[in-house]
Amino acid sequence: MPRRINTLQNIRSNSLRDRESGCLLYMGRLDEDGYARISYQGKNRIGSDVVYEIVYGTIPQGVEVDHICHVRKCVEPTHLRLLTHRQNVIHIKAYEEKRHQRIKQLIETYPQIKGFPILITLPDLKALWDCRSPAHVKKCLLTMGRAYSEEFFYEQFEAGRGRKPALYAIAIHADLVDQLSNEDAQRESQAEESTSLAA
Ligand SMILES: [Zn+2]
Repeated sequence: MPRRINTLQNIRSNSLRDRESGCLLYMGRLDEDGYARISYQGKNRIGSDVVYEIVYGTIPQGVEVDHICHVRKCVEPTHLRLLTHRQNVIHIKAYEEKRHQRIKQLIETYPQIKGFPILITLPDLKALWDCRSPAHVKKCLLTMGRAYSEEFFYEQFEAGRGRKPALYAIAIHADLVDQLSNEDAQRESQAEESTSLAA
């Protein structure tokens, strides 16, 4: 029992609290997918799995720990829940597609973003991404910045005042532009393959 508490304390002391989201961000070793990695009972494990297990109990077979906050390195127990692998994949894919969609909308509307940061007003972003409110736009920016921490950058350039809307500077790394267009090409060729198989 004390060992478990030690492990939790170790994970906590290696993490930082994000005040805005409540996430407990693991600052130690991450794997290539961005999950916390810790050694526990002699095994190299995903940190959020270990936290779930210690706090809530064993993870049943065929079920995975899902991050409600979509932040993979988060080890906050209340941000974790169990989903079946299939549910989890569907869930992750849907959010990934939404984010890809937002990047593509930016590139289509502002092609110059491929080379330079652009300035865009909050109402323009809201319209482009079909957001419900300015707060929703800010939430989208936050999750995009987290999901693509090396490739998507934004900053409030000017705060809104009176009739003047807030202005944001947004930049997308060329790698992400390439990655998305490669994925599109792949999807098209897969679609072609399946039609040719059917024919
Ligand atoms: Zn979280």
